[in-house]
Amino acid sequence: MDENVKELQKQLTWEFPHIAKEAPDQTKEAAEYCEGYKAFLNKSKTEREFVAEAVRILSENGYQEYEIGRKYETGDKVYYVNRKKALIMTTFGCRPLEEGIRLNIAHIDSPRLDLKPNPLYEKTDLAFLKTHYYGGIRKYQWATIPLAMHGVVITKDGEAVNICIGEDEGDPVFCVTDLLPHLAADQNERKLKDGIKGEELNVLIGSIPYAGEEIKEPVKLLVLKLLNEKYGMTEKDFTRAEIEMVPAVKATDVGLDRSLVGAYGQDDKVCAYTAMTAEMATEKPEYTTVTVLADKEEIGSVGNTGLDSDFSLHYIEYLADAAGADVKTVLRNSVCLSSDVNAAYDPTFASVYEERNSCYVNKGCVLTKYTGARGKSGSNDASAETMAKVIDIMDREGVYWQTGELGAVDVGGGGTVACFVAKMDVDVVDLGVPILAMHAPFELASKLDIYNTYKAFKAFYK
Ligand code: MN
Ligand code: MN
Repeated sequence: MDENVKELQKQLTWEFPHIAKEAPDQTKEAAEYCEGYKAFLNKSKTEREFVAEAVRILSENGYQEYEIGRKYETGDKVYYVNRKKALIMTTFGCRPLEEGIRLNIAHIDSPRLDLKPNPLYEKTDLAFLKTHYYGGIRKYQWATIPLAMHGVVITKDGEAVNICIGEDEGDPVFCVTDLLPHLAADQNERKLKDGIKGEELNVLIGSIPYAGEEIKEPVKLLVLKLLNEKYGMTEKDFTRAEIEMVPAVKATDVGLDRSLVGAYGQDDKVCAYTAMTAEMATEKPEYTTVTVLADKEEIGSVGNTGLDSDFSLHYIEYLADAAGADVKTVLRNSVCLSSDVNAAYDPTFASVYEERNSCYVNKGCVLTKYTGARGKSGSNDASAETMAKVIDIMDREGVYWQTGELGAVDVGGGGTVACFVAKMDVDVVDLGVPILAMHAPFELASKLDIYNTYKAFKAFYK
């Protein structure tokens, strides 16, 4: 009798397993996979760098630049770059395009401090850069950490010069200052969100004056002289530049067991990298794949490199035109993974989560039916049919996955690109990696979860 009850319980109840307990062999496979991931992250801290590095790797792996109007064969692999900041990859499938495509969309921009267009100033013999933060940051986290300078400046001759300081061995780094505790009595009374205010996110860049005769702002001049020697730029060139201050930290293992990756920008480069490598591993898929790595998600997917732009729709229109297919039929029959990270349950801050419906580190990729806030507002809310389709794809290939909401009801909320995909009349659901300390300068993700997200994408493209 007892045995029967246990058997019945096993049949009727469900809990998402811990991967390392159920499949200990995966720990090693996941660790090996993440070596490539960490190396890639270190070369790709901004969307432009991600695209450049991805194109280099794709070109080495049989991908050709997409030619509009050309008809491609099953198994052909192409990439398409949108304004150096967004990337689309395709492996052409066996089935006709009108039976739908397998769309997978992640984003490659991450929260950071952008330089203002007129950033450089000197005060009391110290030179600083004014910044305007990009995306949802907790401002107090960005002071007193080493920052690297990344970006591009277009010189007056129209030449694009890449900027990168703070990543190579021996490079200097930069820093936002904060008060010492001895003098912080007033600051301590501020609300945490104002611990460091937006206009206090000033980056220290120099302190030695230019030697020679007495001039106004000699420290600023020395900084400009050094930038000019390195990049040929002048102060005016800041106005035709995109320069970003990002954490100078390298991707590294976290924990004595090395089970986690700690790095800047894992939201959402972890989904972008797993999507790209799964796309690369795909040969002659059943359905044509379209992997989009978009920009600007962190500020609402706006701009012509973000997903609210029609650039990905236009790409699918090009594919449909070349194949003689009706694009509306293609879209209606397609399935999309809106691949983005979710908040992993953190027992230190348990009250913002609901235990039964949170995602957990080491339980696999997280399928997020809906995001949004205040009663699912702004959410895509995937249908039961779409959930069933994606769950079936993962179960058939033995992928470890779990479900999770972004925190407890009415605690906060957020959105992803899923709503923009749904607008194209495509079935879409969010899937991604659980992250601890999301949007912090140093975010944490489990290697087993990263690996199973890769496996989920491979199954999706198969
Ligand atoms: Mn994201
Ligand atoms: Mn984000």
